[in-house]
Amino acid sequence: MNVILLGPPGAGKGTQAQRLVDTHGMVQLSTGDMLRAAKASGTEMGNRVAEVMARGELVTDEIVIGLIEEKLMEGNSAGFIFDGFPRTLAQADALGALLEKTGHRLDAVIALEVDDEILVNRIVGRAEEARAAGQPVRADDNAESLKLRLTEYYKKTAPLLGYFHAKGVLQSIDAMGSIEVIATELSGMVKGAAT
Ligand code: ADP
Repeated sequence: MNVILLGPPGAGKGTQAQRLVDTHGMVQLSTGDMLRAAKASGTEMGNRVAEVMARGELVTDEIVIGLIEEKLMEGNSAGFIFDGFPRTLAQADALGALLEKTGHRLDAVIALEVDDEILVNRIVGRAEEARAAGQPVRADDNAESLKLRLTEYYKKTAPLLGYFHAKGVLQSIDAMGSIEVIATELSGMVKGAAT
């Protein structure tokens, strides 16, 4: 069972992916987390992409495809949740080829739908909460970077909705309700896709 969670920054992909890990034992593949880990560990690639990420731009397809390929080769029986990948049409094509090569199939692509004002409030709120609690704030969780992240999303990632619709695997979910309600609905969709 392999599922892509698609949606703009702040849609809740990471939160819901974590719930699917807990309820279905799936493995979460978040390119955002992988890139932040590379930055934290000070690898050459991590240092190279840190500024690009902080600005809110996308890092190159080559880098993220390489990260995903490594993980897919490791395999797992419960399936993968792709969170934040693919983000461009080139990445979507590369994922299709990698899944085929590794004998996996794509069961569902679920679009998390959230209005823009809510996204901005969620992300700016997340940064303020972290700051008040003395926790680290993501370098790209500020109004300026967020504007670019949203532009990148609509320009480069939103076309994937049409791409996966054409493949007959796209479903969507209203992601403006409570985390619990969305998690329950998503879990049902994932179970349904596996049968
Ligand atoms: P968001 O909350 O904006 O969805 P992520 O944690 O998924 O954030 O990603 C943060 C940043 O990491 C992105 O703005 C981008 O710079 C980089 N990134 C993550 N995944 C990809 C990808 N698949 N392709 C290109 N860049 C990516």
